[in-house]
Amino acid sequence: MKVTVDPVACEANAVCARLVPQVFSIREDEEGEDVLAIAGDGEVPAELADGVRDAVSRCPKMALALYGLRRSTTKLSATARMIKTPRTMFCQ
Ligand code: SF4
Repeated sequence: MKVTVDPVACEANAVCARLVPQVFSIREDEEGEDVLAIAGDGEVPAELADGVRDAVSRCPKMALALYGLRRSTTKLSATARMIKTPRTMFCQ
């Protein structure tokens, strides 16, 4: 699973960085502006996947997107909770 950021939409408010500091951090760019940095070229370690999904769903600017989600081979139960963001949809 890979996470990316839309740098135009991101306002560098650090919501995601507080949730998963192992993946997201705020740094200054060459012009002194705060920007979001994503560790490991966006590849999300399996043990941080739930936290990153949470951060994606909580981003107030909807600037984060997930790629490479595996499709479940089992049917969803009636109680499956769907979380929908503008660019991704996944189940918990
Ligand atoms: S939560 Fe969204 S807007 Fe805030 S720093 Fe992360 S990607 Fe940017």
